[in-house]
Amino acid sequence: MTRNLLKRKRIALVAHDNKKAGLLEWARINREALARHVLYATGTTGELLNRELDLPVTRFVSGPLGGDQQVGAAIAEDQIDFLIFFWDPLEPHPHDPDIKALLRLAVLYNIPTASNQATADFLICSPLMDQEYERPTPDLARYATTRRAF
Ligand code: PGA
Repeated sequence: MTRNLLKRKRIALVAHDNKKAGLLEWARINREALARHVLYATGTTGELLNRELDLPVTRFVSGPLGGDQQVGAAIAEDQIDFLIFFWDPLEPHPHDPDIKALLRLAVLYNIPTASNQATADFLICSPLMDQEYERPTPDLARYATTRRAF
């Protein structure tokens, strides 16, 4: 099975507090490229990005209040097809289970995901950013059928 990623991608951006400055700088440098897509973000990240870029950013609630789960649900519902998530590998967070769940869904649905700046640099420069792309996805209907056998 595949899902079609349009030229104009729906990108979710999330940054933990210690990573927000880095994400904002990356977004400022790549503003022109980001402006060609539809931007979403968790609460605080979205507010900062909106101010920094002066671009529309649809905001979920703040990460610790459920924003990561909202992004994950949007991936499952085919509302988000690209994730830039600068998570902090040096600090524990109260919403660590949500972070793990979001990263799990990004892998499950085969979402292009950048967890650090170098990966984000490579992704944003990919020619696929401005093309349609048939994204292979798991056959979840078939998976659900096998689950029902138990
Ligand atoms: P924030 O959430 O953008 O509201 O800070 C990010 C997170 O902590 O997951």
